[in-house]
Amino acid sequence: MINNNHRKVAIIGSGPAGLSAALYTARADLKPILFSGMLLHGQVSQTHLIENYPGFPDGISGMDLGQLFQKQAERFGAVVEFDQVEKVNLDVNPFKISTYSQDYFADAVIISTGADPKKLNIPGEKEFTGRGVSYCATCDGWFYKDKDVVLVGGGDSALEEGLFLTRFVKSVSIIHRRDKLRAGAILENRAKSNPKIQFIWNSIVTEIKGEESVSSVTIKNVISEEETSKNTEGIFIFIGHRPNSMMFKGQLEIDDLGYIKIDQKMQTSIPGVFAAGEIADPIYRQVVTSAGMGAAAGMQAIHYLESIQ
Ligand code: NAP
Repeated sequence: MINNNHRKVAIIGSGPAGLSAALYTARADLKPILFSGMLLHGQVSQTHLIENYPGFPDGISGMDLGQLFQKQAERFGAVVEFDQVEKVNLDVNPFKISTYSQDYFADAVIISTGADPKKLNIPGEKEFTGRGVSYCATCDGWFYKDKDVVLVGGGDSALEEGLFLTRFVKSVSIIHRRDKLRAGAILENRAKSNPKIQFIWNSIVTEIKGEESVSSVTIKNVISEEETSKNTEGIFIFIGHRPNSMMFKGQLEIDDLGYIKIDQKMQTSIPGVFAAGEIADPIYRQVVTSAGMGAAAGMQAIHYLESIQ
């Protein structure tokens, strides 16, 4: 079915991957439509300062960078719809995309719905996000230079990010809910031999406290049930990520962790459907790598559309 809502390219998600895909496909005159989702510009919009995106030697706020990405894509004809995609049908041609407000059709689809860090869901976590609560050591580690910070998690991410933090901070207390790490032996050995890292075993954080920003956390030993308070200005949480792939389950190949499987050309298990950014990247999760994946997906969508003409 072809109607006014038929586009050559539809992009789902407005983070760095989606907006870079929009830029590339717009510059090929494909007039892509991009659905923003609930969080315009994705996780980047919530990052106070980004100092590792090339081209901004003095850093840039995540909000400003997101707006610049969008402005650049729109300059070449991308249309950003502030709408949430509810459902897709990738078994039909053109592909069908249903948003809150209406149905759209597209010959190629680029999925860039991202992944959300898992939350502890404890008092203070939401209130202090960006003011002492962080889910990204690469983004925020620098702000805790010479400070004592705590970190929650016992997997590879927790240890890798904890080790990264030791470049800046005075100490990292890793709070893990068991007495055995989930992380691999190499990272475990490295963390255990780092003098700046200490472990608090069999423990969970039950509350994050502060006024303007975080000043302490409440830690509960899950065996003795004893609660203690620990002063800290920063709590880093690395208890896994949840890719936003629910909508594509049963239609695309998805791995055990929920990431959409792609090949080297960013193509999913369905020709004409591409994925880019954190929805398909369990490893790097950086603005620059997501933007790069989005550009690659955009270029592959252009080639795909040429090939089916
Ligand atoms: P993960 O392996 O799922 O580990 C999550 C950790 O958080 C676990 O230790 C878990 O405890 C803990 N946790 C989960 N929910 C919690 C809660 N509500 N409260 C307290 N603790 C909680 O996640 P990840 O570390 O992000 O790694 C994801 C995948 O990426 C893994 O396959 C990992 O190997 C891979 N990865 C690899 C590297 C590397 O090779 N360099 C680096 C990063 C990630 P339990 O152990 O008790 O379940």
